[in-house]
Amino acid sequence: MESVIGDKRLKAQCMCGSVRFSAVPVGREATACHCKMCQRWSAGPFFALPCGESVVIEDEVDLSFYRSSQWGERGFCSNCGSSLFWKLHGRKDYNVSLLAFDDLGGVRFTTEYFIDGKPDAYEFANETSKLTGEQVFALFSQGQDH
Ligand SMILES: [Zn+2]
Ligand SMILES: [Zn+2]
Repeated sequence: MESVIGDKRLKAQCMCGSVRFSAVPVGREATACHCKMCQRWSAGPFFALPCGESVVIEDEVDLSFYRSSQWGERGFCSNCGSSLFWKLHGRKDYNVSLLAFDDLGGVRFTTEYFIDGKPDAYEFANETSKLTGEQVFALFSQGQDH
């Protein structure tokens, strides 16, 4: 079963199914963020798939947003608590929780953000490019979101 990502609309939902949405990923490359906010929010590193402005929410009765910083906000299900997406406040560039999708198709895990925030207790075996918090902020200031 091979599903093509990059031009195909994929379905996703929270754990309880109250929040359902779909999105077309920008590419096939997923990221993980080890910053402290993502750790606390996702009970682990936050695995994300950039989906740009393609997110279409089908049922948003239980969708809530938490303003986690001056620039960022996080969408979650207020019924079951699932973490669903991170985006810049006031913009529609969605970084969707990779594991909220029904089917990951050919996605590869390629980049780790805030590697300096990762606890020593675990380490991924994937070959990834690892960026420190400082390097991530440098990317942001060039207009690239995570
Ligand atoms: Zn839910
Ligand atoms: Zn983070």
